Amino acid sequence: MLDYQAPATLLNNKVILVTGAGDGIGREAALTFAAHGATVILLGRTVAKLEAVYDQIEAAGHPLPAIAPVDLKGATASHYRGMAETFAEQFGRLDGVLFNAGLLGTLSPFEHIQEKEWDEVMQVNVKSEFLLTQALLPLVRQTAKQHGEASLLYTSSSVGRKGRAYWGSYAISKFAVEGMMEVLADELENTGVRVNSINPGGTRTKMRASAFPAEDAMALKTPADLMPLYLYLMGADSQGKTGQTFVAQPK
Ligand code: NDP
Repeated sequence: MLDYQAPATLLNNKVILVTGAGDGIGREAALTFAAHGATVILLGRTVAKLEAVYDQIEAAGHPLPAIAPVDLKGATASHYRGMAETFAEQFGRLDGVLFNAGLLGTLSPFEHIQEKEWDEVMQVNVKSEFLLTQALLPLVRQTAKQHGEASLLYTSSSVGRKGRAYWGSYAISKFAVEGMMEVLADELENTGVRVNSINPGGTRTKMRASAFPAEDAMALKTPADLMPLYLYLMGADSQGKTGQTFVAQPK
């Protein structure tokens, strides 16, 4: 794990969007970013979960978050553009985005991958991130110009860096995420916007439990254990690091 001690004020005055903020790693990241001073925009599809995160942040006395209810399976480009306009009006800046929401799909031999499920996994894990990034880029670039830096952080997986039998659509989608990160990092060089990806490694969440139902979840790291790296990459201490793939749980 990264030995990084984030100052409590690391993200003061920053506005950070987290996708899939209602559960698992995204939920923990949203709480952690807020605890370090950020105004967090909680994006997700289950409003009750987002409200619970909102309430927890409010009760802790951290900057009040905003809620952006979106189902990444169905949202369109105009949806995302409208959202970006709202963020620009409401906050005037966007310092960071954690692209975290993800769909596992069904693990199966390649020959049995269902086309419908392939489409859903690609839609949630890849296309929605492409469209959301495209819509948010003007605001993110402007923020970097005005305030010196901004961070786009994509979420990959071990199987997005080395293919593995039966991980089909999910693995392929994560390779695409890595590709998107590299293309963007290269294009945004010298803009102050850094673009990186993170592989959380096996982490105690619902997604992990559905992929490995028989394992002892208590032996896994928790989302909270990973937060030093997430903070490092979201905050200004990682300025200049771009186009890189990070591992939250090095062997
Ligand atoms: P969880 O399944 O616990 O959480 C995923 C989050 O994404 C949930 O908040 C979920 O919302 C949201 N989400 C899923 N589909 C949609 C959608 N269509 N629209 C909006 N939101 C959606 O997963 P993890 O926290 O484990 O995973 C987070 C990221 O880390 C993912 O990208 C995953 O691929 C990656 N990862 C995780 C690992 C692990 O071991 N946990 C290992 C390697 C990578 P809702 O709660 O409403 O369903």
